[in-house]
Amino acid sequence: MHADLLCCNEACAAHYPITEVIYNCPACGGLLEAHYQGDPGNPWDLTGIWRQRRMSNEPIESSGVWRYRELFPFLDSPAHIVTLREGNTPLLKGARAAEYADLESVTFKHQGFNPTGSFKDNGMTAGASQAMRLGMKRVACVSTGNTSASMAAYASAAGLDPYIFIPNGNIAYGKLAQALEYGAKTFQVDANFDQILALVRVLSEKLGIYLLNSVNPFRIEGQKSIMIEMLDQLDWVVPDWVVLPGGNLGNVSALGKALRELKQWGFIDHLPRIAVVQAAGSSPFYCYMNAPEGAAFVPDTHPETLATAIKIGDPVSWPKAERVIRETNGVVEFATEQEIADAKAIIGACGIGCEPASAATLAGIKKLRARNVITKSDRVVAVLTGNVLKDPDYIYRYHTGQLKAPDDIPIAPNFGNRPVVVANDFDQIAAMLEHGR
Ligand SMILES: *Cc1c(COP(=O)(O)O)cnc(C)c1O
Ligand SMILES: [Zn+2]
Repeated sequence: MHADLLCCNEACAAHYPITEVIYNCPACGGLLEAHYQGDPGNPWDLTGIWRQRRMSNEPIESSGVWRYRELFPFLDSPAHIVTLREGNTPLLKGARAAEYADLESVTFKHQGFNPTGSFKDNGMTAGASQAMRLGMKRVACVSTGNTSASMAAYASAAGLDPYIFIPNGNIAYGKLAQALEYGAKTFQVDANFDQILALVRVLSEKLGIYLLNSVNPFRIEGQKSIMIEMLDQLDWVVPDWVVLPGGNLGNVSALGKALRELKQWGFIDHLPRIAVVQAAGSSPFYCYMNAPEGAAFVPDTHPETLATAIKIGDPVSWPKAERVIRETNGVVEFATEQEIADAKAIIGACGIGCEPASAATLAGIKKLRARNVITKSDRVVAVLTGNVLKDPDYIYRYHTGQLKAPDDIPIAPNFGNRPVVVANDFDQIAAMLEHGR
């Protein structure tokens, strides 16, 4: 099987060589995706080979993305692969989280275990490898978050120069800190996200810089490995539900493409249902999917949420995401700031932890369970998209009762765990330990 085409996802169905440096269809502006001819081989043989590769010390084999490369063979040579041993993320059971959502059990696929602490690494390893294959020297993205942290790391590891463009006054410091440390040249531009993206598109084209924003179709190919690895870890037994947070909707598009192809190629015989959860203050996809049939997609011009990774008003990948929801008989839910914060503390109390956007999953599961959309005995896998340490400020504020939603409404520390101030006094501390806190 090989890929020599980038196909337009829209009705125009135009196709272009896989080596063409384009991000949207030149004919209609639609999103592009890699298209493969033939099939990858016998599923029984391939799943066996993938298991064996885990024993290898070779970088490409021990990467939890490239181990599965037969399912996204867009490169013409493994020499172009840039890897930091991404993927290999665990499935973790959270008993307290299951109880919280009234489920018999819940499993977390924790993408925060990636090299830069988010699932963006699954995609960035593929995007950076395509940049190498194209002979690019410089890469760029517009982002204040995990995309920039990931791109900076992969570009620097490959000897490419990373350029990051961020909107003025809209900085997530934990993530920006990573980008600076990994050596990205960072430009703070006095404009909003969409204006900067338009500027960077022109710059990239004129100066021959490769764009690694979420429209990049190769990032989507790499992110398919999240679903492939999950099913491998489940011994190819398809769960009832896969739940993930939705921002730009690239991840749900990638996971859905993986499922579609895995079924087409005979790895699975049916699909799990997909649930996407958005933050209440940034939920254009929820609104669209729950509007009457035929209603237009309406971007949110003022998205607001403390879960900055899903604070996206105009998600580029919504048409792909809609297809995935329809194909998997999926649902789209929303969660409030309070619901996200409480769910996050519960995931933390399981000894697992995640960043705010990731916790939207458990908050959404609880609501879908309450409405009996999810049944108590359903096998549910939630994708935790980012590491707990991405946003320590949020955590401290929640546990000390200082966290406020964007509309200034205080968030109650319902599962708060406040540090206790005590005197340097043995008897006093001993007495407190005896009686619990
Ligand atoms: C990017 C990101 C998301 C949103 O993913 P999309 O593909 O934009 O829907 C969610 N959580 C975290 C931690 C992220 O970094
Ligand atoms: Zn097109």
